[in-house]
Amino acid sequence: MRPRYILIFGPPGAGKGTQGRRLAAKLGLAYVASGDLFRQQAEAGTELGKVAKQYMDRGLYVPDDITIRMVLERLREPDAARGAILDGFPRTLAQAEALEGALAEWGAGIDLVIYIKISEAEALRRTRGRWVCRNCQAVYNLETNPPRVAGFCDVCGGELYQRSDETPETLRRRFEVFAEQTLPLLEHYRQRGLLVEVDGERPIDQVFRELEAAVGRLVAG
Ligand code: AMP
Repeated sequence: MRPRYILIFGPPGAGKGTQGRRLAAKLGLAYVASGDLFRQQAEAGTELGKVAKQYMDRGLYVPDDITIRMVLERLREPDAARGAILDGFPRTLAQAEALEGALAEWGAGIDLVIYIKISEAEALRRTRGRWVCRNCQAVYNLETNPPRVAGFCDVCGGELYQRSDETPETLRRRFEVFAEQTLPLLEHYRQRGLLVEVDGERPIDQVFRELEAAVGRLVAG
């Protein structure tokens, strides 16, 4: 079977990571999040990580050439041979074109685009309580999705930390950049009939059921 590629979009705090990981596990696809890849590089102190962190900490997008190279390399790894759920990539038109070019070469394409919508006020509230695993990047929220043991990851036992790009000012900037650069991309996918929009302000399980239904229609169709 040809590989499947599903994109997940949404503003900061929409739950892309939580939902994307679950969906990837259910479908047996790799979960690839460009933000996680950048944070891993930054944690490891690589050159790429140092450059990326300068943009991330200001709430700006990392330049396209760096981002595209990193994500396409990741998609060539063996665990992504059946396809991937892509979280946070593409975010610009140049990234979308590069992705489609690569997928076409691999005899594949974008199968579904999911947009998880939340308001800026809700994003602010959620990201205040957000903690991320240093090791596997799983995301927790002290109010809505707390870890079983405070400070440690349920999945791998790694230490949890708070992201350095989640101050109220950076979040505001990330919202603006999302509206300016990424919302137009969604229009492009809507016109091609690939877009499914879900209300991300509901509980995690409800949102996930809706995503499962959308993916089910894809598999059935
Ligand atoms: P995220 O974890 O998806 O919220 O991403 C965190 C930060 O990583 C963003 O605010 C950007 O600085 C950077 N980043 C992640 N994905 C991309 C991308 N596709 N293009 C440019 N920058 C990105």
